[in-house]
Amino acid sequence: MLAANHDGEWVMVSTCDLAGVVRGKAVPWRDLPGRLESGIGWVPANQTIDPFGGIPADAPYGALGDLRLIPVPETGVRIGGDGAPSQVLMLSDIVETDGSPWAACPRQFLADALAALQAEFGLTMLAAFEQEFTLSGLPGDTASFAFRSFQMVAPLADRIEAWSSRAGLPLEQLLPEYGGMQYEITMKPAEGLAAADQTVLLRELVIAAARVDGMKASFSPKPSADGIGNGVHIHFSFRDRDGRPATGSGLLDDPAGPVSPLAGSFCAGIIRHMPALCALTAPSPPSYLRLVPHSWSAAYNSFGYRDREAGLRISPVLTMPGMDPAEQANMEYRAADACASPYIALGALVRAGLEGLRAGLQTPPLTAADPEQMSAAERQATPLVRLPDSLDAALEALQSDKAANGWLAPGQRQAFLA
Ligand code: GLU
Ligand code: MG
Repeated sequence: MLAANHDGEWVMVSTCDLAGVVRGKAVPWRDLPGRLESGIGWVPANQTIDPFGGIPADAPYGALGDLRLIPVPETGVRIGGDGAPSQVLMLSDIVETDGSPWAACPRQFLADALAALQAEFGLTMLAAFEQEFTLSGLPGDTASFAFRSFQMVAPLADRIEAWSSRAGLPLEQLLPEYGGMQYEITMKPAEGLAAADQTVLLRELVIAAARVDGMKASFSPKPSADGIGNGVHIHFSFRDRDGRPATGSGLLDDPAGPVSPLAGSFCAGIIRHMPALCALTAPSPPSYLRLVPHSWSAAYNSFGYRDREAGLRISPVLTMPGMDPAEQANMEYRAADACASPYIALGALVRAGLEGLRAGLQTPPLTAADPEQMSAAERQATPLVRLPDSLDAALEALQSDKAANGWLAPGQRQAFLA
């Protein structure tokens, strides 16, 4: 959130596209009040510019069409400063020229899904994204979780904290992760749409902050084929209409089960549709170099208790004196990465959860063993399925899942597939 007046500066009004790339146009800050109403010109085909700069031949939008980017003031942040180049970034909703929502706006996709969850089941979602990234340009090798790896990024770490706290992005942790040159930044939970906004903004902030030191931050799911993958783990929990925790206790020995019936149905929807979800949450070829067994990512649609190999896991809760497990209980979806738009990824999780809720599915059975070590018959009994092993397989899983295929608006689906 921007506190100050930025007269004399530009504000880059942006969207996060289907591949997670932040694109937009800058306008003078002084024009912002008018732009909040009229927006900024945008072209449908921009949605299908791929990460390498081309527009696929089978994209649904051509030279025709006009849209508007309507800035969302509460998403405005200053990226940079303290001697580094500094600019204002603000996210936006994409609307038609009459102001009605554009059916293929990714931010609207998430907003609509969250609104349906609230309207149909009285649930508000809180979410928090963990983002892993790999730095290049460090002065030496890193060691997992080592202080010397943290010290190596001393100015960068402080810059990230200074810029984030000024921008109102609620950071939780920064850590030197397991992989070589790998770090992770996590955020505190926020209401679903705000959590996705903050994730988009934080990623740009980290990239810009690293550049000040001549470093490059890569959020690629697999920066090198034989290296450790970078995941985006999406945590979520629920509140009821009165703002009370509605996720359950998160405790395995709870006689009522570790999650509430509604949260259980939501999880069951995710488990059922996870093969199709992958296309939306892990939408690049290298995503599938990461989603392999025994890499602490996710290779099966398993429902784990604390298990870091599970596609969806129940996170730990603390039972120390004075701590209420119900306030902490949350689930973590692990088959996501930064090639996904946070809006599409979280929106798709909500859509899958809604399928489970509407069908009244039971909480899925917890996967107690390593699916990779199970026999085919054992996997069949749960049932557990291996998640797609390539982007092509994931896109096929999406298209052959009747429900999932309907989550995206027709034009948006065609753009996504293209
Ligand atoms: N790097 C792992 C991944 O690709 C996650 C490791 C962890 O934080 O559990 O998802
Ligand atoms: Mg991690």
